[in-house]
Amino acid sequence: MPKRHRYYFTLACLLLTTPPFALAAVSWETNWDSVHPYLFSVVLLFACAALLLSYASILKMRRYHQRLAKSEERLRLSLWGSGDELWDWRIETGELYRSSSWLTPVELKPETHDFPPNKQQIHPQDLGRVVTLLNEHLNGNNAFFEATYRLQTAKGMYIWVLDRGKIVAYTTDGSPSRMTGTLKNIHQFKEAEGRMLLFARCLENISDGVLVCDTQFTIIEVNPAFSGITGKTRANVINSRFELSMYPSRYMQDIQLQLAKHGRWSGEIQEQMDNGTLYQAELAFDVINDDEGNPQQYVGVLSDITERKIREAELKRLANNDTLTGLPNRAVFMTKLAQLVKPQTKHALLVFDLDNFKKINDSLGHELGDTLLCKLAQRLHTDARYQQKLYRLGGDEFAVLLNDTNDIHTISLMAKGLLEQINQPFIINQHELAITSSIGIVLYPDDGSDPQALLRNADTAMYHAKNNGANRYLFFNDSMNKQAVKRLQIENLIRYGLKEDYFTVFYQPKMDILTGNVVGMEALVRFITPKGGLVSPASFIPVAEETGQIVDIGAVVLRKACADVKKWLALGLFQGRVAVNLSAKQFMLPNLCQQIDDILEQCELPSYHLELEITEGTVMQSPTLAIDTMKKLRARGIHLAMDDFGTGYSSLAYLKQFPLNTLKIDKAFIDDMDNARGRNMVDTIVTIAHNLSLNVVAEGVETKDQLDMLRKLRCETIQGYYYSKPLSAKDFAAFLFAQKQPPRLSVIPG
Ligand code: C2E
Ligand code: CA
Ligand code: CA
Repeated sequence: MPKRHRYYFTLACLLLTTPPFALAAVSWETNWDSVHPYLFSVVLLFACAALLLSYASILKMRRYHQRLAKSEERLRLSLWGSGDELWDWRIETGELYRSSSWLTPVELKPETHDFPPNKQQIHPQDLGRVVTLLNEHLNGNNAFFEATYRLQTAKGMYIWVLDRGKIVAYTTDGSPSRMTGTLKNIHQFKEAEGRMLLFARCLENISDGVLVCDTQFTIIEVNPAFSGITGKTRANVINSRFELSMYPSRYMQDIQLQLAKHGRWSGEIQEQMDNGTLYQAELAFDVINDDEGNPQQYVGVLSDITERKIREAELKRLANNDTLTGLPNRAVFMTKLAQLVKPQTKHALLVFDLDNFKKINDSLGHELGDTLLCKLAQRLHTDARYQQKLYRLGGDEFAVLLNDTNDIHTISLMAKGLLEQINQPFIINQHELAITSSIGIVLYPDDGSDPQALLRNADTAMYHAKNNGANRYLFFNDSMNKQAVKRLQIENLIRYGLKEDYFTVFYQPKMDILTGNVVGMEALVRFITPKGGLVSPASFIPVAEETGQIVDIGAVVLRKACADVKKWLALGLFQGRVAVNLSAKQFMLPNLCQQIDDILEQCELPSYHLELEITEGTVMQSPTLAIDTMKKLRARGIHLAMDDFGTGYSSLAYLKQFPLNTLKIDKAFIDDMDNARGRNMVDTIVTIAHNLSLNVVAEGVETKDQLDMLRKLRCETIQGYYYSKPLSAKDFAAFLFAQKQPPRLSVIPG
């Protein structure tokens, strides 16, 4: 009840009740009968009036309380409706009143005198800030207390609240005694705000450019990345139209149509910054609709793909271009060839490689070989005749593709030009290199109907050019293909022969020129056909060399020769050495010595009964390595002979270093002895050999004249048809046996 009402109520009661009671007191001493009825009536009237007044006052109080209750209810309802909590804090006692609501989860203990009173619920990270703000208000620095912080609910989770309050009472000494306020749950708002902030930050920080524009492409907003990619500042683009400067205006209209139709558009663009720098980007537009589905804005995302495009171009260049020479590679060549191979067209293809490139690589190193290829590519590439026509197929193999021509004269000129260009010396690391090349040429459509056939036939022609002396060009013809087919047949035959043991060994004796005794023999391989015929090694050894089958053939020959010799030694027919030919591929085998050791051991043949014939070409492929291998063989007691001496490229300087026992003069020199120059030649070879303390074997001796001349030149050993053709093992045993018989004049030349 307000103070004023209470005062009126008390006064009325006093006024109305005092007279009757005064009268009653007086009349107490008085005789009741003497009390005047009038006075009594007055007393009664006063009493009634007092009662009436009291009753009215009570009614008034009730109404007051009813209004108060209503007002409280309204307040409660409004608080409930607003979701806010009312708090009332008695600062001195620490007592905290909180209107019952969502936020009164924790039982507060006023006696703890926490500051602020809900301290236990405030998030530790926010507490300091809340305390500062509260103190500022309590100290009079701020008219209100207002703080946003996280408050813990009964379930243990924190929610964001907005706490507002004000001091409402002070103690007599002027310090705050009471403070009230409201607490608002702003968690959802705060979360939404957080999400918006997050999105805003994302937009600020993503590397993709984002632009929002209206449906006429007038820019409403852009993010920093947009400016980074396009080079246009936000201030310059806001309210301006989004344009693609390097495209016709129709382009934007098309985008607009697509957006209207599909709600989305994306594509790759190339644009120019204001400073002229070009950039490439992926651009995607999406439509933002209102609730009714009407387009309101377009949001565009611009991804800078300049770097990626550069990388892609580089990868494409790497995939298409040979990394060493920079020329288009085999893949590009095949694609180009496939595109050209069409009816009613005529083209020519020249395929060439360098003669003896392997030798350059082996002797001067691969680095120099690479430099040579680069220089060659450069030289040809700068020649207008070969520009856009030259490809590197791999290794030292190149191709020139001539479009729309089948004119033999033009193509021949082109090939000649190529050979001349290649023949010009190259100076690399102070080495002057003179190289040559062999070119195979095919014509489309005559020489093949598809790229593979054309390339295969060009290779065949090139192979023939090489075999015909190299440093030349050859047009492909059908007979070349027949030879290629034959080569394939031979390869298959060798494979079959190795499997079925169709290889056998023939022996040709080596005779002492003075005594006529057999001092040794050469083991020569033969292929026995299923019908019993003999195939000469000349027809299969080159193929076997190429395919590597010679390694297996060589092992068969070595094993059979060692076994035969062991048998003849045991029979006492023979005491000398058997010479076995070693091909280059065999000689290069890393386990060659081991293989020979094994065979000698299996055949129980002492190593000094074995001689190995190696050609100059074989040792010159890698002279240092050859010397090393030869030393190892010599260390085992095996003899070494240099075969076909004079036909290869070995220098006298090397010859001195090779640990040889024997030099075999090639048949070509013996054939040439019918003239003085030829004889001098053989004389020189024999002298060199003797000066190097080497034995000399003359091979291919067919006549008595040749024999006589060789005897005069002090050549000590003879091999040739004059004495014997190569014989089968059985015939050779008979030959040896006959040799053991008393000498016959016919075999010991006079
Ligand atoms: P080569 O090592 O120079 O062998 C000598 C060749 O000359 C043999 O031919 C032999 O039959 C032939 N010959 C010997 N004396 C005369 C003669 O007076 N007149 C004529 N016209 N020819 C004579 P063959 O047996 O046909 O061997 C040819 C080539 O095959 C050999 O030349 C050798 O390079 C190779 N060869 C033979 N057998 C083997 C082998 O087992 N392994 C390897 N790697 N190569 C072998
Ligand atoms: Ca030989
Ligand atoms: Ca020979």
